[in-house]
Amino acid sequence: MTDYQDIRDSVVRLCQRFPNEYWRKLEANTAYPDEFIRVLTDEGFLSVLIPEEYGGVGLGVEAAGVILEEISRSGGHPGAFHAQMYTMGTVLRHGSQAQKQNYLPKIAAGELRLQAFGVTEPVAGTDTTSIRTFAERRGDHYRVNGQKVWISRAQYSDLLLLLARTTPRDQVARKTEGLSVFLVDIREAVGNGLTIRPIETMMNHHTTELFFDDLDIPADALVGEEGRGFRYILDGMNAERILIAYECIGDCKFFIDRATAYASERTVFGRPIGQNQGVQFPIARSYADMRAAELMTREAARLFDAGEACGTEANLAKLLASEASWRAGDTCVQTHGGYGFAKEYDIERKLRETRLYQVAPISTNLILSYVGEHVLKMPRSF
Ligand SMILES: Cc1cc2nc3c(=O)[nH]c(=O)nc-3n(C[C@H](O)[C@H](O)[C@H](O)COP(=O)(O)OP(=O)(O)OC[C@H]3O[C@@H](n4cnc5c(N)ncnc54)[C@H](O)[C@@H]3O)c2cc1C
Repeated sequence: MTDYQDIRDSVVRLCQRFPNEYWRKLEANTAYPDEFIRVLTDEGFLSVLIPEEYGGVGLGVEAAGVILEEISRSGGHPGAFHAQMYTMGTVLRHGSQAQKQNYLPKIAAGELRLQAFGVTEPVAGTDTTSIRTFAERRGDHYRVNGQKVWISRAQYSDLLLLLARTTPRDQVARKTEGLSVFLVDIREAVGNGLTIRPIETMMNHHTTELFFDDLDIPADALVGEEGRGFRYILDGMNAERILIAYECIGDCKFFIDRATAYASERTVFGRPIGQNQGVQFPIARSYADMRAAELMTREAARLFDAGEACGTEANLAKLLASEASWRAGDTCVQTHGGYGFAKEYDIERKLRETRLYQVAPISTNLILSYVGEHVLKMPRSF
């Protein structure tokens, strides 16, 4: 297995042009990292998963993960743009030739952004097959009505990958049937049936509520076959979980790097605080947690890129990495004492950013439920 050291080195160099102060200022102004994304796109990193024939780099999830990991490790916040990577699989695997030819070269060139992924709804929550947003076929178009919540980056994206019901749940044999995926052009939709309302959150995440009120979208916005969308979305969700795990590994490394450096240089009672094992051991423990999560994450990516089943590994990677990054962040704050709370150290910002990943894109309980039921074959709970 390659470690993509050349990619890592290039991303590290790129990130040096965007020091932590850049991300801190963005957050203070709730601004979007347009400049960072432009450079990331120009250097080909954001199109890493797009095949070469459409203008991308044509590598796999492992390479994409390494890019996100290094951005996180540098102190950056990939949550602002990572969706373009994990939504890509659904379009590549299930999109029509026309959709790929129409969108992918423009996405690779940075002329279009595919940064919004619309699944979650206020009533359904984690129970995705209960979503109510409905797309009704009417001749050459679908009419969409419903509501989504926590749809991140919708204000900064040109395209939205939308999951909607196309057959009511009580008319399908299995609740996973009758759901469809659409590529919605947000630029045309806003003001014509789509309203976007921002939600303020504890980190700079640009998340929103979406309201669909008789939004008409062309029939050729449908991705793949009508009614099979749940399966398409699940494919993408494994990629999403693996990529988020890489980000959390990057967060772990940021916290461990910072804690190690501070523990070695900060002197209290005439000795570096890291000489005290009460300070040293939690950092060493975080390193052990990180390495274990990193192994699982790399294994999940390897399986994904080989086209093998990886649902269990993708889930475990996300669970282990998100918990490891949270603990590493807590340890980093503790190591820094009062300075762990100072905004200019970026630790509290990174801790807030990494906290999300125990809830989204799937919460820890739901992963444990998957392992209990599908891996360990214990009784189904819901
Ligand atoms: C900042 C942010 C950005 C997001 N971005 C996106 C996005 O871009 N696109 C998108 O589609 N979604 C997005 N999400 C939504 C995210 O995926 C959901 O918040 C997450 O899946 C949990 O759903 P919920 O919030 O409805 O929680 P609920 O489903 O209401 O669950 C609440 C809590 O109860 C627990 N729970 C629920 N049922 C069970 C059970 N049976 N057993 C045990 N525990 C249970 C859950 O684990 C959770 O901790 C985002 C969320 C946030 C906060």
